Amino acid sequence: MKVLVINAGSSSLKYQLFDMNGEQVLAKGLCERIGIDGHITHTPLLEGKQVFDEDVPLPDHQAAIAIVMEKLMSPESGVIADKSEIKAVGHRVVHGGEHFSASSLIDENVLQGIQDCVPLAPLHNPANITGITACQAVLGNNVPQVAVFDTAFHQTMPRHAYTYAIPYDYYEKHKIRRYGFHGTSHRYVADRAAEMLGRPLEELKLISCHMGNGSSVCAIDGGKSVDTSMGFTPLAGVPMGTRSGDIDPSIIEFLTEKEGLTVKEVLNILNKKSGVLGVSGVSSDFRDLGKAASSGNELAALALEEFYYGVSKYIGAYAVAMGGVDAIIFTAGIGENGATEREAICKNLGVIGLKLDPEKNKVRGKQVDVTAEGSKGRVLVIPTNEELVIARDTLEIVAD
Ligand code: ADP
Repeated sequence: MKVLVINAGSSSLKYQLFDMNGEQVLAKGLCERIGIDGHITHTPLLEGKQVFDEDVPLPDHQAAIAIVMEKLMSPESGVIADKSEIKAVGHRVVHGGEHFSASSLIDENVLQGIQDCVPLAPLHNPANITGITACQAVLGNNVPQVAVFDTAFHQTMPRHAYTYAIPYDYYEKHKIRRYGFHGTSHRYVADRAAEMLGRPLEELKLISCHMGNGSSVCAIDGGKSVDTSMGFTPLAGVPMGTRSGDIDPSIIEFLTEKEGLTVKEVLNILNKKSGVLGVSGVSSDFRDLGKAASSGNELAALALEEFYYGVSKYIGAYAVAMGGVDAIIFTAGIGENGATEREAICKNLGVIGLKLDPEKNKVRGKQVDVTAEGSKGRVLVIPTNEELVIARDTLEIVAD
C-alpha cells in the first residue's frame, strides 16, 4: 500500500511517498516559494528515474500538490502509474493542543479541532490545514487522510510538569500550559532505543535529545513523555540555532523600552535572531560555529558552550525528575552528526552514571551505542525518521 506523507509550511511543502510493503521511500521532494513564485525539487528513488529541480509557478498549496502528483506519475521522474495508487495521506500537524493525544483520521470534527488550535500555532496550523484541504481537492474525498501531531506524544505529561506557575485562570481560559514539540521524533527514537537495548520500553527511563535547527530534550518514563524542554511554543528550552530558549520574561518589556521595539518585534528577535546565531553573530549552523570557534572566535565558542551547558542541565534535571536514567539518546542534525557536540554535552554526566566513549563516538548519521565501559546507563545515537512514523500511523489508522 502506498502512503503519501505531507509536511506543509506556510510557503513550502515537503513530501515523501512510501510503499509500506517494506517501508520503502519511492520518491521525496520539496515545493518552495509557494504563493511567491515557485520551485520544486522532486527526487525519485527508483533506478533510471530523473531528479526534477526547476522553477514552476506555485500560486497556492493546491497547485503544489497538483504538480507533486504530476511528477509522481510522469514517465521521466514518476514512481506510480496513477494517483489512485495512493491509498492514504499522512500529514504532519504541529499543534493538537489538548484535543489530540494520538494521531487521528481527518474528518470534519478533526479539521475543526486543528482549526481550534490555530491561536496556539498561528504560523503552523493554518499551513497544515491548507495542506490537508489541497490534498482533498486534488486526490478527492475518498482518499483517507490522517493527522499526526508534534504535540500528541507529550499529552501524557503530569499536571505539575505542564502547568505554569501563573494565575490558574489563564490555563482554564486560554489553555496556557506546556505542550512540547518534536513528539513524533522523541517517540520514534524511544522505540528504537528499547529495541537496541533489548528491553521493554515500559521498563525504561530515557532522555531523548532532539538537536536540529530547533532542539528539545524529553524525559520518557515507561514509553510516556513526562516532561520536555519546549513549552507553550517551540521558543522555550535549550538555546537553539536562532531561538533563545529559556530567558527571563521580563527581558521582553525591558527591550521594548530600551530599543524602542514592539513586543512582536522582540519576539521576532527571540525566534529568528537569537540562540547560537544571536550570541556568536556567526551562524545558526553548528558546523560553521565549530570552524569559527577553532579559529579563535570567542563568541562562537561561547555560543557552543552555552548550548552544551543548556542541554546537559536539562539531562541532569530529567534524571532527577524520573529518579534515574537508563539511556540518553542523541538525534536530529546535530545529535546524529555532531561528535564534538555529543562529547561536550556528556562531559559532566558521570554524576548521573553516564559516560561516552570518545572512540565509539566518532560516527555520523548511524544508529550506534557510544557508551564507555563502566558507564551505568547507555549513550545512544539514533537517526530520527518522523516521516516514517507518520506513514506508519497513517497505515495503522486506515487499516483499522
Ligand atoms: P531541522 O530542525 O530543520 O529538521 P536538522 O535536524 O536537519 O534540522 O538539523 C540541522 C542542523 O544540524 C544544522 O543547523 C547543523 O547545525 C546541524 N548539523 C548538520 N551536520 C552537522 C555536523 N556534521 N556536525 C554538527 N552539526 C551538524
